[in-house]
Amino acid sequence: MEEKMKAASNYDKSVLQSKALYQYLLDTSVFPNEPEPLKEIREVSASHPGSRMASAPDAGQLMAMLLKLINAKRTIEIGVFTGYSLLLTALTIPEDGKIIAIDVDREAYEMGLPIIKKAGVEHKVDFINSEALRALDDLMENLDNEGSFDFAYVDADKVNYLKYHERMMKLVKVGGVVIFDNTLWKGTVAMPEDAVAENYKENRKWLIEFNNSLADDARVQICHASIGDGMTICRRLR
Ligand code: SAH
Ligand code: CA
Repeated sequence: MEEKMKAASNYDKSVLQSKALYQYLLDTSVFPNEPEPLKEIREVSASHPGSRMASAPDAGQLMAMLLKLINAKRTIEIGVFTGYSLLLTALTIPEDGKIIAIDVDREAYEMGLPIIKKAGVEHKVDFINSEALRALDDLMENLDNEGSFDFAYVDADKVNYLKYHERMMKLVKVGGVVIFDNTLWKGTVAMPEDAVAENYKENRKWLIEFNNSLADDARVQICHASIGDGMTICRRLR
């Protein structure tokens, strides 16, 4: 009960209580500073039937900030789709940086690829058209890759988030950052199961398990940010 009250009084303090306020945030601070190629890839992606999967631009802004703060040079992305977060990363890391970008869907990647090329950052992208677990296991076979990445963005199938996390704890260096996207799953993680739409139930279950497990994992410092659809930022401690 006391915990519930605490949550309620904190909700009153939370800022994003309306669509108008979100629009204000985008119009004032996000869109005016969004690089032109990112605007373009966002517009191209809008015609894809899965366009709602693309990362939100305000969440992208947070990601770009973190990439700069840790001087990320070598990164991994699981779940590329049409490439919004990929292009954002490519524009943010240095000229000799590298992104291992993994997705089963080459067609979606190819939709954004011309914009990545035009932006002059394709040389930073190493696209792997594969199931992510397979690609990560291949990476781990080369011991040089162990602890060699500064940053990873995980935004693919939620059922495997725990497995991706285990692999990231080997591939990303101590002090490196891993972001998991969609960890609030449209708010369904806090709803009773019978109030949740059928097509959300499965991932809700995996994400609840994932969130509990991360909160109890001494290998990482976490920040569960209520931005976008929920982003959990993990810093590897050991
Ligand atoms: N980060 C992207 C959005 C990713 S959407 C952006 O900012 O726009 C999720 C992507 O994960 C989809 O493109 C889907 O093809 C991919 N995906 C889903 N399951 C996967 C798997 N097991 N292995 C690799 N990619 C997968
Ligand atoms: Ca996502």
